[in-house]
Amino acid sequence: MNHTTRIATPAPDQAGLAALEAQVARDLDVLNLPPNNWVPPMRRDGVRVLDAVVVGAGMNGIAAAGSLIFKGMPNIAVLEAAGPGQEGPWCTTARMDTLRSPKTLPGPCFGIPSLTFRAWYVANFGEESWEALYKIFNRTWQDYLGWLQRVLKLPLTHFSRVTKISPADGLLRLTVEQPDGTRTLLARRVVMATGRAGAGGLDLPDFVDRALFPDLAALAPQPIDFEALRGRSIGLIGGGASAFDNAATALERGAARADLYVRRAVLPQVNKGRGSTGPHFHHGWDAIPVAEKWTLNVYLYDQQAPVPHETVHRALRQPGFHIHLATPTHAARREGDEVVISVGGGNPREVRHDYLIVATGFAVNPAHVPELAEFAPDIARWIDVIGDVPPGLRRAEIENFPYLGPGFELQPRDADAPPELRHIHLVNYGAHVSHGGIASDIPGVVVAGERVADAVLRSLFVEDFSAIRQALVEYDEPELLGTPFYVPKAGASD
Ligand SMILES: Cc1cc2nc3c(=O)[nH]c(=O)nc-3n(C[C@H](O)[C@H](O)[C@H](O)COP(=O)(O)OP(=O)(O)OC[C@H]3O[C@@H](n4cnc5c(N)ncnc54)[C@H](O)[C@@H]3O)c2cc1C
Repeated sequence: MNHTTRIATPAPDQAGLAALEAQVARDLDVLNLPPNNWVPPMRRDGVRVLDAVVVGAGMNGIAAAGSLIFKGMPNIAVLEAAGPGQEGPWCTTARMDTLRSPKTLPGPCFGIPSLTFRAWYVANFGEESWEALYKIFNRTWQDYLGWLQRVLKLPLTHFSRVTKISPADGLLRLTVEQPDGTRTLLARRVVMATGRAGAGGLDLPDFVDRALFPDLAALAPQPIDFEALRGRSIGLIGGGASAFDNAATALERGAARADLYVRRAVLPQVNKGRGSTGPHFHHGWDAIPVAEKWTLNVYLYDQQAPVPHETVHRALRQPGFHIHLATPTHAARREGDEVVISVGGGNPREVRHDYLIVATGFAVNPAHVPELAEFAPDIARWIDVIGDVPPGLRRAEIENFPYLGPGFELQPRDADAPPELRHIHLVNYGAHVSHGGIASDIPGVVVAGERVADAVLRSLFVEDFSAIRQALVEYDEPELLGTPFYVPKAGASD
């Protein structure tokens, strides 16, 4: 059996899941979680201000929101543009059979065994099924994340897209589009857990004619009607996992052929991303000097991630799959109902297809994040801080990553930036250069959630310090009541 063949997953065991949920409740009780809310309430114009809004309810939003609650900051809202079960790419635009990650990753579990993916999987499907599981199916992972949202009792509202964040006299005003209209919210902090495309959208190379969209082309992370591609010939630009998965999906659904045009002569062989995970990278990355961090990022960028071997085998099983290495694309344009692509080094040639899928990944640039438009000119980027970089170490693709503070907070480009800018924490792909993979990939998700919640805690504690100190002065639970040493407070009646 090849590794990615779907094995029948047994029906979920409701009793097993109920037992696990009882265990979760016990574990939280034993750990005294969540603690009481310690943040002094704040009102503006008669309305209670939220202490934080988490934008996005994928795994990073879950980890951030859970960590905030577990640190005594429950006055938060989690806003998610998609509907339940549709958060993130897993069941929408991710077209692989299984996750790349090993099944043993604990997931956003906050260090609590009963909240791990494994505990959830075994409770649902049993030990035997766990042993037989090779890698995690996308839907299974999505179901686990949905379960976490529920057992953590996250204050989550679906179908709520944050369209704008504005400074509001020390607070942040969020404009939120919901099915029944637009509303605004005031928050003290915002955590943007908006995923891979959340820091600048999708990468569409200049040489691809925009007139091809939407009928003759799509970007790989967009919805694609594969039924409409039956019997058609597809050209794909890109040599990463997504190009292979989209080609395989199209062919499995009846496309006649899929041709991948890949600039590299040799595909990346080693997953340096996997090699740069673990406690040392997760906790140490942000501590290394700026120059070292830059050269590390350049190294990882140049290496690129290889296509998982399962994905390569999946594509190779399809007779219509064709890959053209050392074949850069120079232009893609429409001619009638056809896509004409100019490919190849030296003497480019023209090839024709019925449809084009551009699989060139995600872009990062604060200027292209719609929610942050009001702040964009004031956001410090890596190009602003690295100074003179030797020409061999310049990479346009990573220069525009935002330069983030130790708690993922945006940093001002200059002294004129609105102070509220530092109250926006970017826990998405845009954090990669500053913090490494912890806000991008599953292995570091708990570290990212903890880190951003710690940062919010520390900054609210400092901001509210005089009120917190006053509450301490007024705190008067008599410890020695009932002992011979009890001294009633002056004015007390007993
Ligand atoms: C195809 C694909 C496969 C991947 N496979 C793996 C893998 O195997 N292993 C691994 O470790 N990593 C993998 N990753 C990387 C990473 O784990 C995923 O991208 C993961 O989804 C990141 O989680 P997240 O919470 O940051 O973002 P997402 O899961 O993308 O969640 C972000 C959420 O924010 C919401 N949102 C965005 N903007 C707004 C807004 N303005 N208002 C409200 N809501 C908003 C979105 O609807 C979305 O639900 C993969 C990524 C992709 C794209």
